[in-house]
Order: sequence, then structure tokens, then C-alpha cells
Amino acid sequence: MDCLFCRIVNQQIPTKLIFEDEFVLAFHDINPQAPVHVLIIPKRHIATLNDLSLADLELGGRMLIAARTVAAQLGIAADGYRTVMNCNGHGGQTVFHIHLHILGGRVLNWPPG
Ligand code: 5GP
Ligand code: ZN
Repeated sequence: MDCLFCRIVNQQIPTKLIFEDEFVLAFHDINPQAPVHVLIIPKRHIATLNDLSLADLELGGRMLIAARTVAAQLGIAADGYRTVMNCNGHGGQTVFHIHLHILGGRVLNWPPG
């Protein structure tokens, strides 16, 4: 299996990390859609949100906790921000290793496109 985000986890692609714990990594998106655009990924490969199971309960929580930690770290917590996880074609997923987008630093429109 050749997965871009597994290569980042395995340090085959040098990436400056913003946050790391036992379960997850966070780094800046290469093509930011807002002044702050960070991706939180699990260290373990999970292709889509559809593949998350009850056995991954702690992992899911860790991704959310990492999101709020990164938001505070980057100074967008008080103004606010958005977390998004795209799933499959209609959701616009392009990298098939789950990731939580954190978008902030500007007012975000709703509904998204
Ligand atoms: P998706 O469309 O799957 O929800 O989001 C994938 C995201 O990964 C996109 O926002 C894209 O810009 C980002 N991305 C793709 N390749 C790389 C990469 O090599 N490094 C980083 N940091 N982000 C990437
Ligand atoms: Zn992967």
C-alpha cells in the first residue's frame, strides 16, 4: 500500500509537525484554504471515516483533543475555527488516510460548497 500520509507518519516525507502524541500528528496543509489550515491525522492507517470502528473510540477522541490543542496553540481558539473530515467522492476526499482539517484565521462561510 502506498499512502501519502503513512509516508509522513513514517518520516519518508520530511514534514514540520505542529503537534504529535501517541496517536496522532498535526501539520500544515500544503495548499491552505484559510490563513490557518492544519491537518490532524492518526498514525495508524484508516482509509475513510466509513472505516472507523468502535475499537477506534479513543483515536477519534484524540483527534478532537489534538484539534482543540492546535487551535489554542495557533491562536484561533477564541475567534473560532472549523473542523472538517471529508469522506469519499461526494465529500471531496482526495487522500485516503483520514484527516481532520482545522480551518481558521478568517470568517468561514456556511454552508460550504
Ligand atoms: P481531502 O481533500 O482528502 O479532504 O484533503 C487532503 C488535503 O491534503 C488537501 O487539503 C491537500 O492540500 C493536502 N495535502 C495533499 N498532499 C499533501 C502533502 O504532501 N503535504 C501536506 N502537508 N498536505 C497535503
Ligand atoms: Zn495511510
